[in-house]
Amino acid sequence: MTQDILVVGAGFAGAVIAQQMAEIGYSVLIIDRRPHLAGNAFDEVDGHGVLIHRYGPHIFHTNSYQVSHYLSSFTEWRPYEHRVLASVDGQLVPIPINLDTVNRLYGLALDEAGLVAFFESVREPRNPVLTSEDVIVNAVGRDLYEKFYKGYTRKQWGLDPSELFASVASRVPVRTNRDDRYFTDAFQSMPKHGYTALFQKMLKHPGIQVELGVDYREIPERNRARHVVYTGPLDEYFDNCYGKLPYRSLSFEHQHLPECREFQSVGTVNYPNEHDYTRITEFRHLTGESHCGSSIVREYPKAEGDPYYPIPRPENEILYKKYQALADSEKNVTFVGRLAQYRYYNMDQVVGAALSSVAGIRKCLNKSAS
Ligand code: FAD
Ligand code: UDP
Repeated sequence: MTQDILVVGAGFAGAVIAQQMAEIGYSVLIIDRRPHLAGNAFDEVDGHGVLIHRYGPHIFHTNSYQVSHYLSSFTEWRPYEHRVLASVDGQLVPIPINLDTVNRLYGLALDEAGLVAFFESVREPRNPVLTSEDVIVNAVGRDLYEKFYKGYTRKQWGLDPSELFASVASRVPVRTNRDDRYFTDAFQSMPKHGYTALFQKMLKHPGIQVELGVDYREIPERNRARHVVYTGPLDEYFDNCYGKLPYRSLSFEHQHLPECREFQSVGTVNYPNEHDYTRITEFRHLTGESHCGSSIVREYPKAEGDPYYPIPRPENEILYKKYQALADSEKNVTFVGRLAQYRYYNMDQVVGAALSSVAGIRKCLNKSAS
């Protein structure tokens, strides 16, 4: 029997749509070529009993009541506000750059008004602000840009900040107060029993069949359901017909440190200028777990490998638009998610995009039925 809907990818985009459509009464087959649910948000207990995120640290934060309320049907939460330090000039200082960062780095004792004046004196005004370099030098000047952003960005993306849209570096704001939280969203919490448990609950529905380790490309066309929801890389769906749409990849180096209660004082430490890795995350901060040892992960950016990040820059946007035009003309297929929409989405934005797509999918199914 073929289902009403085939969902390709069991990450946030796919799981939300599968759950929503099953709830309405449609039969859904959700597949993933990986052997697990949850896409890049997948977490698991490592060989030492510690809950880790296989694909790097995933911190949930949102300003959308709709999104947090929706996910709350499938998990309890553990309040968690992420804090990050950057290793700069031999010190560990808060990032986003704030009052303490500047005072400690330059040996100053500025107050908030003093910091505003300081930024005003060192900033290099840019108009228009188009690139990631523009946005940072325009706010804090060259020295802080070079200390915190330039090296990190070149390492993370293999590109200079001047080659990336302003939206990339703008994800990490600059503050004049002492707020040292990485995010300021109204809702900041981690799923109490982890992301994978959340997905298991979301997909536990009589109308949903899950098949893991199955690649869409291996499913014959005649077996492909009345409607397909595709959440994988957009270029791959179209056999790279316009050339490869660039995605940035990472290697994750997981390590368990026996007899270590705390490796670092915060969830993540960024290394903008030293090492081949960009950051180290210690999971106990994120999960609240306490073991006699501690598990950490280092992230090494690379060009080839699993697609993790769309690369927001003008030529990629042009290529994406060509693929998007093909996607728009594809009948009975909906493209949703970070890879399929080629958007640097956080988890909450993917959930929001998936929820928004449900009405269109219903309309499409009703049309094909009549
Ligand atoms: P994915 O999670 O990538 O799921 C797509 C799935 O489709 C994959 O599992 C893939 O195997 C499957 N698939 C692809 N092609 C096929 C095919 N042909 N057949 C079958 N299956 C296929 N967001 C936050 O909000 N907070 C964070 O702290 C955060 N940290 C991050 C850290 C890292 C290192 C990375 C890479 C991302 C981070 N994100 C974070 C972003 C978050 O991972 C994404 O927003 C979210 O997971 C995207 O969900 P998705 O369903 O669109 O895609
Ligand atoms: N960034 C930086 N220095 C930092 C942190 C971030 O230059 O210490 C820039 C870099 O370009 C990075 C982007 O800001 O890719 C977004 O950072 P974020 O922490 O949001 O990245 P993600 O968690 O998505 O990998």
